[in-house]
Amino acid sequence: MNARDLDAYCDAHQARFIDELVEFCRIPSISTDPAHAGDVRRSAEWLARGARDAGFATTELIETAGHPAVYAERMVDPGLPTVLIYGHHDIQPVDPLEEWTSPPFEPRIVGGELRCRGAADDKGHVWMHLKAVQAHLRTRGELPLNLKLVVEGEEEIGSAHFEELIGAEATRLRADLCVVSDTAMHGRGQPSICVGLRGLVALEVEVTGPALDLHSGEFGGAVLNPLEALSRILASLRDPRTGRVTVPGFYDEVVELTREERTQVAASPFDEAAFREVAGGVLATFGENGYTTTERRTVRPTVEINGVWGGYQGPGSKTIIPARAGAKITCRLVPRQQPEVILDRVRAAIEAATPDAVRVTVTPGGGSRPVLTPVDHPGVLAASRAMKEVFGAEVYCTRAGGSIHPVEMFDRLLGLPSVLVGFGLPDDRIHAPNEKFDIGQFRSGIRVLTRLWDELAENLQRTSPGES
Ligand SMILES: [Zn+2]
Repeated sequence: MNARDLDAYCDAHQARFIDELVEFCRIPSISTDPAHAGDVRRSAEWLARGARDAGFATTELIETAGHPAVYAERMVDPGLPTVLIYGHHDIQPVDPLEEWTSPPFEPRIVGGELRCRGAADDKGHVWMHLKAVQAHLRTRGELPLNLKLVVEGEEEIGSAHFEELIGAEATRLRADLCVVSDTAMHGRGQPSICVGLRGLVALEVEVTGPALDLHSGEFGGAVLNPLEALSRILASLRDPRTGRVTVPGFYDEVVELTREERTQVAASPFDEAAFREVAGGVLATFGENGYTTTERRTVRPTVEINGVWGGYQGPGSKTIIPARAGAKITCRLVPRQQPEVILDRVRAAIEAATPDAVRVTVTPGGGSRPVLTPVDHPGVLAASRAMKEVFGAEVYCTRAGGSIHPVEMFDRLLGLPSVLVGFGLPDDRIHAPNEKFDIGQFRSGIRVLTRLWDELAENLQRTSPGES
């Protein structure tokens, strides 16, 4: 369907859209800081009002044991497809404050960029969704499909109560597709859609030896040092020559990519030198033999040691054999790897690698499953067409190496596939000082979303009852 009418509305109202977003960004809705709990609530109330103004018929706050989420819906006809939009209205803290070139809650537009905390992550994206809905309603009088919106207030603190919220609101959140806008495109002029996220499993290892720290003059050489035992255990988890994880069964469920899928991964531009620069100037890349850097960080699983402790850390030296040593480990998982299964296998490998002279305990942490939406899913194809039309460039389907917990929860708890359509740019400095959102991306993003609703209305299969 031709979208010129929608574009004309957006053009005529672009300045107001920006002014409204600026007001939204003035609210310091920092979820991790209890001192800002009132601001997170204010942000939710402000957003609920914004959703009502945009034309959502139902708007309300959903209370959780933590910060409130915002829910809104506009059910047009139960016979039409239903899309659930996900985003978050909470933001990251702003420290170190002295590194900001302008105050983080006094949004400024400089050189085509809106600079403030939350501009890209994720208030700009949430606002784009409301404005796309408004454009449809003011221009054509009605949406071409049913839309539901859930915007949580705790994404930046690990979506602490979102699983409970989904459980309690499962019926209301039912939809045929979830559209998540909380990510960046591959680059400026390089639109991309993220279709896969790696999963995660966390664990903590503790090695204990003697009941107390021992004098290394009296006992050194005669008692196994727990730090040495831990080092051996950790070193045993990966083969330094092949870069492969050596945990027995670690790769059992991993499906090798087809030649076509590998070509797709390779299609998005990659610059090794630039990557090393972004990676803090590392001297060389490292990983599993036979895979490219992009594959290693998106479609292959890994084991990472996140922290190690034990022994004396103060100035000078202290001649001891420490009583204990520990480490935190996380594994990134790819489709078909289950967190519980991988946890058991890593635990078994750690136990097997533990020398007889020390004891080891493995404590499980959290986990999330990997998710993958097929690249030929109608939702992916629709988003791809909408992006291509607006950006005038081929759209890459990418997979991300990280996890977005809500996406995994929608998949696991509601069987809801997600398409990640985000308009950030890689240099948006999200979570860092001087976060910004490109005004051009904001403008284009709204156009993509207005088209996306038309595309999905025509192509999305209804899989669930539309009524709530
Ligand atoms: Zn975010």
